[in-house]
Amino acid sequence: MFPALLIEKTSEGTQNVSEQSLSDAQLPEGDVTVRVEWSTLNYKDALAITGKGPIVRSYPMVPGIDCAGTVETSSHPGLVAGQRVVLNGWGAGESHWGGLAERVRVPGDWLIPLPSALSARQAMALGTAGYTAMLCVRALIREGVTPKSGPVVVTGASGGVGSVALMLLSKLGYEVTAVTGHPEEEPVLRKLGASDILPRQTLLRMTRPLEKAQWAGAVDVAGGAVLAAICASMKYQGVVTACGLAAGMDFPATVAPFILRGVTLVGIDSVYCPKEERLAAWQQLADLIDPEKLNGILTEITLPDVKQAAADLLDGKIRGRILVRLAAPENAG
Ligand code: NDP
Repeated sequence: MFPALLIEKTSEGTQNVSEQSLSDAQLPEGDVTVRVEWSTLNYKDALAITGKGPIVRSYPMVPGIDCAGTVETSSHPGLVAGQRVVLNGWGAGESHWGGLAERVRVPGDWLIPLPSALSARQAMALGTAGYTAMLCVRALIREGVTPKSGPVVVTGASGGVGSVALMLLSKLGYEVTAVTGHPEEEPVLRKLGASDILPRQTLLRMTRPLEKAQWAGAVDVAGGAVLAAICASMKYQGVVTACGLAAGMDFPATVAPFILRGVTLVGIDSVYCPKEERLAAWQQLADLIDPEKLNGILTEITLPDVKQAAADLLDGKIRGRILVRLAAPENAG
């Protein structure tokens, strides 16, 4: 038996979330079983656990879109018992039981061998948020944005994706402006690598189709009016990567930045991103991340704390990344 968080549908149509003891026999189909040492709480997990977003596609569901641990049993040709792996996306925690449990069973093709420079704890300190930040940065580079192109802007800078994006971009030599709804976080954001802080409210006053051209690249986690303002403020041929909807699903913009400044809008999806790009992104994260800076944005919790943390995350009370310890402390790596 092993502990897991379980989301169940009640007869009234609401959902109930509780910690339960599950058996291996209850795990879904898959050719690899992993002993989970660490998971995380992502924005999507918070939506699933609070029921505030339509994330869960079947019930009962173990939430958790990512986790890291050690292969326990495998009939997959590429994975052996004892190997350290990361799971993220592919519908884990949405349509397939996910990582907020001490065991997961999945198709081995979903698993990424942990880069040797990363511990399971560090991999989940980064988690889907960090890996998505890496996908955004890789897209900017692929589209030709270099440190010489000009400053890059990151929205939701005090959140998971934003914090890691700041660290990665500054490590790569970019000048980074951090947009935040928490300007009091300025010292932390500067430590992570921001050279400039822009209060979200100031950005939201930029409502014209074209604003002053400021940025060569952007990582946007917010969508809505935030993304519209970012697009309107890009330099000629600037590149915007859009990965999130913290401000909303809508996009109240005009085509002006695209047809008058040649701005490119690149969509980023981490869930079904092809394996080759995932492997490259995880390896690049391992190469670039500063463990000390990463430690500075972590809050460590255990399964019983997850429900409250999910509510706090959606209420904007959380900064940085939340790490969830699953395995027994003496075995967690
Ligand atoms: P967090 O909750 O850790 O961070 C989100 C941050 O966004 C907050 O810390 C806050 O930062 C900012 N924010 C909150 N509310 C608003 C608002 N109303 N308007 C503008 N900014 C706001 O979440 P993550 O960083 O983990 O995820 C961010 C987004 O990216 C989410 O929408 C998530 O679903 C999405 N995502 C998408 C992925 C993909 O595959 N496309 C993968 C991973 C995440 P501050 O106070 O500093 O402004």
